[in-house]
Amino acid sequence: MIQLPQFPQSYWTTSVEQPEFPKLTSDMDADVVIVGAGITGITAGYLLSKEGKKVVILEAGRILHGTTGHTTAKITAQHDLIYDELIHHFGEDKARLYYEANREALLFIRKTVEVEGIICDLADEDAYIYTQSEDTIAKLEKERRAYEKLGIAGKLTDHIDLPIAIQSALVMNNQAQFNPVLYLMALTDRIIRSNSQVFENTTAVKVEEGDCPVVVTESGNRITCQHVISASHFPFLDWKGFYFARMHAERSYVLGIRIGQEYNGGMYLSADQPKRSIRVVREGKEPLILVGGEGHKAGQSNCTIKHYETLQSFATSVFDVKEIAYRWSTQDLVTLDKLPYVGQINARTDNIFVATGYRKWGMTNGTVAAHLLKNRVLGIKDRYQDLFDPSRLHADPDIKSFVSENLNVAKELISGKLETVYRSPNSVAVGEGALVLINGKRAGAYRDPDDQLHLVDTTCTHMGCETNWNDGDRTWDCPCHGSRFSYTGEVIEGPAKKPLVKIEFAPEYEA
Ligand SMILES: Cc1cc2nc3c(=O)[nH]c(=O)nc-3n(C[C@H](O)[C@H](O)[C@H](O)COP(=O)(O)OP(=O)(O)OC[C@H]3O[C@@H](n4cnc5c(N)ncnc54)[C@H](O)[C@@H]3O)c2cc1C
Repeated sequence: MIQLPQFPQSYWTTSVEQPEFPKLTSDMDADVVIVGAGITGITAGYLLSKEGKKVVILEAGRILHGTTGHTTAKITAQHDLIYDELIHHFGEDKARLYYEANREALLFIRKTVEVEGIICDLADEDAYIYTQSEDTIAKLEKERRAYEKLGIAGKLTDHIDLPIAIQSALVMNNQAQFNPVLYLMALTDRIIRSNSQVFENTTAVKVEEGDCPVVVTESGNRITCQHVISASHFPFLDWKGFYFARMHAERSYVLGIRIGQEYNGGMYLSADQPKRSIRVVREGKEPLILVGGEGHKAGQSNCTIKHYETLQSFATSVFDVKEIAYRWSTQDLVTLDKLPYVGQINARTDNIFVATGYRKWGMTNGTVAAHLLKNRVLGIKDRYQDLFDPSRLHADPDIKSFVSENLNVAKELISGKLETVYRSPNSVAVGEGALVLINGKRAGAYRDPDDQLHLVDTTCTHMGCETNWNDGDRTWDCPCHGSRFSYTGEVIEGPAKKPLVKIEFAPEYEA
């Protein structure tokens, strides 16, 4: 049996040697402060610094180590089966705008790679959504009709270049894939060669609003600017935008496998559940196949390692798997109506912007957002502004989902507090994480390979839900809004900004 790698590691972040950037240690002025250095923040920084703006990018950890460093990096406007649904909910004009925005983003990436001479394994590929079920053929046909209405080039086929018995597949030709870290490192290089700066290990914790907003960092440094862009994935502050109630985080898993057969190209996504995603990376000595899927609401899976094992079974059923070189997982945010929120953070604040909610299609949506926000900063009306406006209210799907989103959060808030199965700290084995009782109170325990027990208060510092142990990544994950913490309690992923409270262990605490 081929073993899964012991620790999760993304191919993108390990395949590229990244320079380090300093931590911010003084106050400063800038035209624009961008919080978060993923595809959104870096692309926006690149575009704005090209316009002569002095940009300061603040990154809480290392740049490109968030979702962008853990994606599968297909660059496509084929965002699952979406266009028929968009026509139904928003009408043809808006559905077409969504397609055009994402198509333009793909063309922008291609052009930028060419003009800037970036080596990032960019390759043209066709994108396919396939079904193995007769019941889904009609859905694919509906989507094809939506393509026709919107003028999207695409067709149905009964053959794909994979050893999977399909009923039908919908192809969108001339899409692309790349190495996102190589591409965005090159843009970062252009940013710092202009009048702009990038700071790592610098968490933004507050914004003092006003004509010249001031972004305050965790260590108390202040950056006075004209505009602020929250590109922090989950917005780093809510500003009465109620983002916590209008989005949920969805986690998925990826394996990087070496196979003993040819891979003829193509980027694939199954239309059926469970979702499966496949693409190839060709930049190394041997091709690496990325197999993804197993999505679930973040923090709401009891045993995350089983998702890797299920993906492994799928991969073995399709390919002659020789090695599993990488495994990793990450999460993305889904809005109530499935369209991203890009624009003013709330209706009354016109110099603080947000970009979030890409539903696992952020290579193009993040690029769209960067253009839109560049235009907002420059005072140019963007043709996509209204479509992505975070303040939009669309009665039909929104209200139902708004209620169910909040019900889900309320359920997690309550059920987490009612958890009754607790272990004793001494029973937790090396490599294991569990809920234990310390002095009669719930605590999260993890025993590291050196036999040291790490104990934390599992209550999420964002809104008080109880975090769950993620055995695949050895993290504490919040089921409500997707915050994640290391086993020592440090924030790995927001919206939480404060670490979990550590609990000192003394054997006399044993329940
Ligand atoms: C499994 C998976 C596969 C995917 N595959 C694809 C794909 O094939 N194609 C596609 O188009 N999309 C894909 N996506 C989606 C895409 O990867 C994301 O939408 C995109 O990377 C999000 O980029 P971002 O810039 O918004 O966020 P991120 O890349 O997460 O960047 C945000 C950054 O902000 C930082 N930050 C947070 N809070 C603060 C703070 N307070 N101060 C300072 N910094 C802060 C974080 O540390 C982080 O580095 C996938 C998503 C998943 C989950």
